[in-house]
Amino acid sequence: MMNLPSKVSICEVGLRDGLQNEKVLLTTDQKLEFLRGFIDAGYPVIEVGSFMHPKKVPQMADTDELFKRIGEVPEGVELRALIPNVRGVQRAIDCGCKKVKLNVSASRMHNLKNLNRTPEESVAGFADCVKAANENNIAISGSISMPFASPWEGRTPVEDVDAIIEAYLKVGINEISLSDASGMAVPNQVYDLCKHVREKYHDATWWLHFHNTRGVAIANIIAAMEAGMTQFDSSFGGLGGCPFVPGAAGNISSEDVIHMMDEMGIETGIDLVKVMALSRTLPEIVGHALDSYVLKAGRSKDLIASQSE
Ligand code: ZN
Repeated sequence: MMNLPSKVSICEVGLRDGLQNEKVLLTTDQKLEFLRGFIDAGYPVIEVGSFMHPKKVPQMADTDELFKRIGEVPEGVELRALIPNVRGVQRAIDCGCKKVKLNVSASRMHNLKNLNRTPEESVAGFADCVKAANENNIAISGSISMPFASPWEGRTPVEDVDAIIEAYLKVGINEISLSDASGMAVPNQVYDLCKHVREKYHDATWWLHFHNTRGVAIANIIAAMEAGMTQFDSSFGGLGGCPFVPGAAGNISSEDVIHMMDEMGIETGIDLVKVMALSRTLPEIVGHALDSYVLKAGRSKDLIASQSE
């Protein structure tokens, strides 16, 4: 029998990773409506936006505003935002954001070329963010992008991933996200790396973030669950494109993940019908079709009901 969890946590990243890769700029009102919808649908975690420089990522310029306007959220709901540096922690403090996430690329080549430092050196530099977050009661997590493979180096050596994880643990960050931003991971590799990090780092908790660039994301989620992982990012409507391949599919769609979990008897606590209703409004807003199977085909349950009428 497959070794599957009875319950998983899903983080909705459409408002951040999804919209960041869309040309259309949504109004703050539109984002707020989606955010309220996600909370109402039962998401335990939602990535609201990022505190990058507004000139660099104009789609996320109103993240502070969103946090201010949403205000207090129900108990058990976590809203998080991506930050580039300690300036991001300050913006989180100022707008009432209680959870921030840093990111580093696992590609040594990419890091050395763009930042002139190794990924571990980048992570060591996050110590000031951790200090500022701790002093202000803000939870802090870290992401490793392309821990499976990168467009620059191909397969990422496990030793490189280990070095970054150890650097994160050293600065006091133990919630770590493994993010297949380039959509190059495959299930057996996902299984092996997940198993490896779970066995080696008992103090860490993990998130898995898969892009469906090559149609393998849902298989990667299964492989990660088999290795004991229970926390996954997804994006409503499969929003999110691929930062490296124009026109390619985006993040794994939330509908597809929640539907699969529902059908397998794995609890998410999320109301799929409510998520689908939100995603259906997207094509008109973003101006293109979405990469979401369940949104096109409907739920398996609906098909059975309509046949038996
Ligand atoms: Zn992503």
